[in-house]
Amino acid sequence: MKFSFLQRPEIKTRLTSTHYDLLIIGGGITGAGIALDAASRGLKTALLEKSDFAFGTSSRSTKLIHGGLRYLKQLEFGLVKEVGSERAILHKLAPHLVIAEKMLLPLRDKRGFGSILTSLGLKLYDWLAGVEEADQRKMLTRNQTINAEPLLDPKDVKGGGLYAEYRTDDARLTIEIIKKAVEQGCDILNYVQVKDFQIQNKKIAGAVAHDFFTNDDFEVKAKVVVNATGPWVDDLRELDGSKKGKTLRLTKGVHIVVERSKFPVQQSIYFDIPDGRMIFAIPRNDITYIGTTDTNYNDDKDEVHATTEDVVYLINGVNESFPDVNLQMEDIQSSWAGLRPLIHEEGKSPSELSRKDEIFESQSGLLSIAGGKLTGYRKMAERIVDLVIEKHFKALTLQECNTKNLKLVGADFDEPIEVRGYLEEITVRLKHHNLEKYARYLVYNYGKNTTVILDHLEQTFPAFNSESLAKAEAWYCIHFEMALTLVDFFIRRTGMLFFDINRTKMLVEPISLTFKGHYKWDELHYEKEREQLQNAIRSATQFKAINNR
Ligand code: FAD
Repeated sequence: MKFSFLQRPEIKTRLTSTHYDLLIIGGGITGAGIALDAASRGLKTALLEKSDFAFGTSSRSTKLIHGGLRYLKQLEFGLVKEVGSERAILHKLAPHLVIAEKMLLPLRDKRGFGSILTSLGLKLYDWLAGVEEADQRKMLTRNQTINAEPLLDPKDVKGGGLYAEYRTDDARLTIEIIKKAVEQGCDILNYVQVKDFQIQNKKIAGAVAHDFFTNDDFEVKAKVVVNATGPWVDDLRELDGSKKGKTLRLTKGVHIVVERSKFPVQQSIYFDIPDGRMIFAIPRNDITYIGTTDTNYNDDKDEVHATTEDVVYLINGVNESFPDVNLQMEDIQSSWAGLRPLIHEEGKSPSELSRKDEIFESQSGLLSIAGGKLTGYRKMAERIVDLVIEKHFKALTLQECNTKNLKLVGADFDEPIEVRGYLEEITVRLKHHNLEKYARYLVYNYGKNTTVILDHLEQTFPAFNSESLAKAEAWYCIHFEMALTLVDFFIRRTGMLFFDINRTKMLVEPISLTFKGHYKWDELHYEKEREQLQNAIRSATQFKAINNR
């Protein structure tokens, strides 16, 4: 289904002329999930995002669909059970995007819990998450652990555990949910900011929004408004005069990216570092990414960067645990930094704060949802839509929540195993053009819509190479995924700026010209876009020593 700038005028006409049941503010995973749930149950729904979809935390996570093993330490059994069980559901909804991955947990001298506690913990984790028998945790001997990861220091490895997780691409997941919500009839725009609320008889009746694409303001009427703005939740509560009681505490998490050959882990690994925290190292095609930090954050929410201190912390964590790895500052190819929108609890350190979601209702009726995890988006959406229906639409005949059966866009595989067959088919097709090295990236990014991209490539371009392939991808993202800026393409649609910085740098010129042609940018706009992309590249690759720990 087309979802592009060409549709924007119609969508905007509907936004200004419809009286919606529900208006959602924020196009991260939380807002996207609510939009899909509400629209698929039959509520007349709209969603507005001030920047690009997944611009906030939902493009800057560890990109795991996980049960949150460490929440066992905090005795959050309910959270582990909920998000743990969600993993298998999300795998079925988008098997090309939520991919099973074993995680190695090494047991080391004087670190973490001993082998008995870890074994019990992993068993409990499997049990809470309902992991199928074949996938349940396996405890490893010292030798098996060293074989599984030869980079570990044999002197301090005592054994290990291997357990089931899933990896994803958070921004792509968000965008596929947005596209599915559009298919279900939801009216959605990015680059539209809610800047005020409409109030009637002291109750919220809609919002005043500013469209950055056309630079004008308009009003959207809705019976219920949900504030799903992640780290910005309190800003909207302030606008509504309801920032009272519980508030958000933002903590920053940074990931760094190195060439795989600099840190060639065999598989994903979750390991203890000297300050008692644990970090992940996750291999992905030609790179390994490492994260995360967890520090209080009170700065600009729109400009979150990794600092030298964050990077050094992660480098030291790796070098200390893997004696033959000697990462240096200059090895860092890219990075990202995100904010956890957590609920403040007096006297707790960032890592101790609960990751549970909560819903706040203000006197005006504004519903705000905060906390939570990428992994739990579907259940969070179900809870808040149930609440909205219970409070306001009991008289309507609406469907029950059915999102666990709604396959995402590009995911029409009958069984997850079919992804492999499709990947083989795409590899063969790309081999004709000597582009087979992109097969995995394309299928895991776009699922079955890889076919749409390759059809366009073959029909439009006389030469087949990395550049024409990227132009075909840009065409797809512009026409089917509402990519409006260069950064939308390089970060949220393709992840290229994080995971393939060299290809990104090679493609700056041709992709900028592709966007310029599609959008008919004048020189001034073109230069502004180029500058924003260069800023994004600088932000991911250059680090300043600003201490905000
Ligand atoms: P966001 O993604 O931030 O979305 C909010 C959106 O609201 C933004 O796009 C913003 O632009 C928009 N907005 C703000 N104000 C307005 C306005 N006035 N008008 C319109 N739009 C507005 N979870 C996992 O399950 N697995 C992980 O591996 C994982 N790793 C993480 C690692 C880190 C470092 C961090 C920080 C978090 C991690 N999480 C993980 C948690 C997860 O990423 C977040 O819970 C989730 O992304 C939050 O999504 P959200 O939609 O609530 O917020």
